[in-house]
Amino acid sequence: MTQELDESRLKALVDTAVDGVILIDSRGQVLMFNPACEKLFGYRSDEVIGRNVNMLMPSPYREEHDRYIHNYRTTGLKKIIGIGREVTGQRKDGTTFPMNLSVGEAKQPNGGSNFVGIIHDLTERKLGEAHRAHLAAIVESSSDAVIGKDLDGHITSWNKGAERIYGYTADDVIGQPITMLAPPERKHEIYDLIERVKRGEVVYQHQTLRLTKDGRLLDISLTLSPIRNAEGKVVGVSTIARDVTQLIAAERRVRELTAELVHTSRLSAMGQLSSSLAHELNQPLTAIMNYTEAARQLLTMAATAPPRVLELLEKASGQAERAGQIIRRLRSFVEKGTVERAPTELNRVVEEAAALATIGSKVDGVQTVYDFAPNLPPLNIDRIQIQQVVVNLVRNAVEILRDAHRRVITIRTRPTDAGEQEVSVADTGPGIPDDIAAKLFTPFVTTKETGMGIGLSISLSIIEAHGGRIWAEPNPEGGAIFRFRIPTELPTKALPASAD
Ligand code: ADP
Repeated sequence: MTQELDESRLKALVDTAVDGVILIDSRGQVLMFNPACEKLFGYRSDEVIGRNVNMLMPSPYREEHDRYIHNYRTTGLKKIIGIGREVTGQRKDGTTFPMNLSVGEAKQPNGGSNFVGIIHDLTERKLGEAHRAHLAAIVESSSDAVIGKDLDGHITSWNKGAERIYGYTADDVIGQPITMLAPPERKHEIYDLIERVKRGEVVYQHQTLRLTKDGRLLDISLTLSPIRNAEGKVVGVSTIARDVTQLIAAERRVRELTAELVHTSRLSAMGQLSSSLAHELNQPLTAIMNYTEAARQLLTMAATAPPRVLELLEKASGQAERAGQIIRRLRSFVEKGTVERAPTELNRVVEEAAALATIGSKVDGVQTVYDFAPNLPPLNIDRIQIQQVVVNLVRNAVEILRDAHRRVITIRTRPTDAGEQEVSVADTGPGIPDDIAAKLFTPFVTTKETGMGIGLSISLSIIEAHGGRIWAEPNPEGGAIFRFRIPTELPTKALPASAD
């Protein structure tokens, strides 16, 4: 304190100080308590002045403070004087708060000492720290990789998620170029991305490939955003990387399955059509053959017939015979089909097909319940064809439930006592209309405006080709249940369906 500073100016300074200012004498008695202190501690200055400053401290400091002062007076060893320290203050209401205390000594003309304490409230800063710690914990616990890098592309931070995805620890990578994570042909892309972020751009969900420590290639979705300093200048790049390898594999699988199913469904539809065509054509062809044969015989008996007519009739009959053979061959081809059987887990087949068939059905409020029997032995089936059946049944259920009040599809698998495996698809729709119940599995039977009426008849031929049976029955809870059973031991030749 300089001499020119008169008392009133000093008082004005202390009174308006943002920080708390306390003056105590060498025994710890408060001589001055400024307005900022009143605010901090909740005491009026007249409640504090003349009392021991330790009233502003929580235990155990309160009890120890007199000893501190005593020690300093006797040993001259400075613990806090001249330096700042983080300590805890106690308010009038008993609550405590973090504060930074710096203490200065003011030697008195009489040889004693007064001490000035400057108190800075750290509550806000502590809250800021807690907030930052909270954010840091979120980053740390994120399953995504959160990576910081400078504008040259050197890694500056690396969370647990990054460690899990890429296999490197923070020690392995901090300070290293981020390009170490990219396969050779993608390295240039990283610099392009950083350039965009330097310009202040945020890059959302950029899909790319990255390499793990052990050399695996991952499908990664990146979101990059600029890190700015207090002046708003871009000083780094923050990257959130999500491993989408499995997601992409699943999408690919769905695409493949859909393509396969569409293909088989076209084939089956064609097969079904040709089979019915063959059936329909067979009768008129036989009739043509019979008529031409009869005509030929009549002409042979009538002596007037020109020989050329006889010859032509014979040819017509031969051609009709040939057409009949073509059709018989076609039928036998279609009926045998090109079934490719392999030992397959029924549950898996049903699950995949049902997943496909119910895509988008949640939007319509349709709930799908699975109830699969465990440990079913593998069945010798054509996976794609059986999936086709399940897709048909589940799609029909989804469609019928669109206008239903309760919308639940229950898909079950179970072994039967006869050693078959059964799949059932139960819905809570209106049930099967009486007038079509008997011919449900016949081609071209439909109640839908745009229906082909071919799904169930194809399903029937597929299940029969597997030596199994398919049928529909009313659901006791309302709605319909479609069931099919496939024998574990497949007959070498397809058996005709028997009524259940
Ligand atoms: P499409 O679906 O083209 O009509 P399908 O052969 O798959 O051909 O079905 C034939 C008919 O069977 C349908 O039009 C419908 O009337 C009836 N049907 C099928 N599934 C159900 C079901 N779950 N509930 C009630 N009726 C059904």
